[in-house]
Amino acid sequence: MKFYKINIDEGKRKKYAQGIPLVKPLEENICCSVCRRQWRRAHYLENPNFVMALSNQNFPDFLWFLHYKIISENALEVLMQKVVRNLLFKEISIVSVNDLSEAQVKDLRFRGENVKKLALNPPKYYTVIVEEGAELHKESGVYVEECDSCKYLKVHSYGMDFLHPSQKLYLHKRSWNGEDLFTLKYFPATLYCTENFLKLYNEYRLTGLNFSEIDVIE
Ligand SMILES: [Zn+2]
Repeated sequence: MKFYKINIDEGKRKKYAQGIPLVKPLEENICCSVCRRQWRRAHYLENPNFVMALSNQNFPDFLWFLHYKIISENALEVLMQKVVRNLLFKEISIVSVNDLSEAQVKDLRFRGENVKKLALNPPKYYTVIVEEGAELHKESGVYVEECDSCKYLKVHSYGMDFLHPSQKLYLHKRSWNGEDLFTLKYFPATLYCTENFLKLYNEYRLTGLNFSEIDVIE
């Protein structure tokens, strides 16, 4: 069985649409008495008033927005029927460029967005929650600092403040729960999959993702 890390495909000849939030995130200021860190956690999709526009009319099936996984109706059907049992999903509120208020248009222009290109008839999109399904093998040499109290998480390479992009990572096969789409422990923002998922992705001509094989250690 082959395993893959999933990356976002931004589109080659024509860029895929991206989500543009129209409301500010709910921000949580954390001042932890255990690890003594002060930091801020932003929640976008958890905000009940969350709404977004799409940057153009070229709609992918997988649309990444920060660490959220946002997928089309088509991709949702494939995931629910073929990939993930008990998939948690929620529809996202997306507005047409025609329904933006004057204040929203002004704000978007101020943020440097090309308002004329925004999607006129955005299709339905859903946010999905993909469960943790495996761990990295310790040979990967990834260091983790996690605060039990505030959940601050820092994943880094030896002697560095961050995970070096060229660091070789190995999936620990024995920790894998058998699902075809999953995240790794300590890496909730990145999706991983099996060759079964990749086959379905190609079979159903889904768009918006790139796959790079990850080495496996039993
Ligand atoms: Zn803490």
